[in-house]
Amino acid sequence: MSARIILARGKETPQFRRHPWVFANAVEHLNGRARPGDTVLVETHDGRVLGRAAWSPNSQIRARMWTFDADETIDDAFFKRRIAAAVARRVALPTLTGQDGLRLVHGEADGLPGLIVDRYGDTLVVALNAAGVDKWRDAIVGALLRSTAAAHLYERSDSDARRLEGLEPRVGPLHGEPPATTVISEHGVRLTVDIVNGHKTGFYLDQRDNRRLTRDLSAGRRVLNCFCYTGGFSLQALAGGARAVLSVDSSAPALEAAQASLGLNAGLDASRAQWRDADVFELLRELKSAGEQFDLVILDPPKFAPSSAHAERAGRAYRDINRLGLQLLTPGGLLMTYSCSGGVSAERFQGFVAAAACDAGVDAQVLQHLQAGADHPVALAAPEGEYLKGLLVVRN
Ligand code: SAH
Repeated sequence: MSARIILARGKETPQFRRHPWVFANAVEHLNGRARPGDTVLVETHDGRVLGRAAWSPNSQIRARMWTFDADETIDDAFFKRRIAAAVARRVALPTLTGQDGLRLVHGEADGLPGLIVDRYGDTLVVALNAAGVDKWRDAIVGALLRSTAAAHLYERSDSDARRLEGLEPRVGPLHGEPPATTVISEHGVRLTVDIVNGHKTGFYLDQRDNRRLTRDLSAGRRVLNCFCYTGGFSLQALAGGARAVLSVDSSAPALEAAQASLGLNAGLDASRAQWRDADVFELLRELKSAGEQFDLVILDPPKFAPSSAHAERAGRAYRDINRLGLQLLTPGGLLMTYSCSGGVSAERFQGFVAAAACDAGVDAQVLQHLQAGADHPVALAAPEGEYLKGLLVVRN
């Protein structure tokens, strides 16, 4: 007999709307006993069963909904179904087929709260970021092996999200003999991915489409790529015929990886690439006082606002770098600017960029709104899952 969560009166609305998270303050009490990750029934105050969830007593997100069908059992077969469906959705999209680097499972949006699975060639990197998926790790590994042709699985359960669940980090091989680094091809450019030490699962797959756009916009341009990490945007700019690409990051290992990747691409002209180990906030100021100018500036900073509580301080940082970025542009130059902060909405971000243009004293227009690729879906019921937002802006 499953334990049951009884929701406080008036706190059922998110689940009526199929939102996957039950917050601590929505739980009136737990009937029965449950350990972290156990499956519990979720009920309204007046006894209506809304579905089943994974119990997570140490997290503010006290339970994550597995299903809104009270009759659906959570067992090995459930994970086989959900993982097969996530893979099938991607196979069905022509824009995603043939990609070496692809997110196969994107947590809540794929009906598997807390589970991230990224594919790099024949290696899958798995992050189990919540108590529920942590408990079902064997079922998940089995289902992934069944649904994909992966030879190796590696676990990277070392995110901040996992800490918030009260779970210890876990990293290491789950199946086969995963190589520490692997090489993927993205739009024909070869890139090394360090699955053991790299950020997230090794690479920022969410920017794949936007790197393609960079390539298409780079011909003949002088490009400044800020927060370049392992050089994904930089190498696409070179592939697109950029005249020169200056790339900046404060991580020496990331810059080394970027240069190693460049060396793998015989067709790219390495003499057009310059790499700087520096703080972007400082370097932008230096470039400005030196009178440097660029035709395309890319700003893809880390998460400045993990939650909306940090939005205001984050706003100052976005406003600062975007002002400087716009000031460094030639007339007609392009700014590609991003925020991956969950705590900043797309509308709010655009407001920060508008304020930055005002500070810079320039007129500018939005040419395109940018987002993560289709392998990073957003659940309609949980729009806050849309963490990555960007703008392509032209300076007059
Ligand atoms: N655009 C990259 C991903 C960027 S992630 C891609 O497509 O792969 C953000 C990067 O910002 C990280 O590599 C991190 O090392 C770097 N970073 C964070 N703070 C920084 C700072 N103040 N100055 C320079 N780089 C910074």
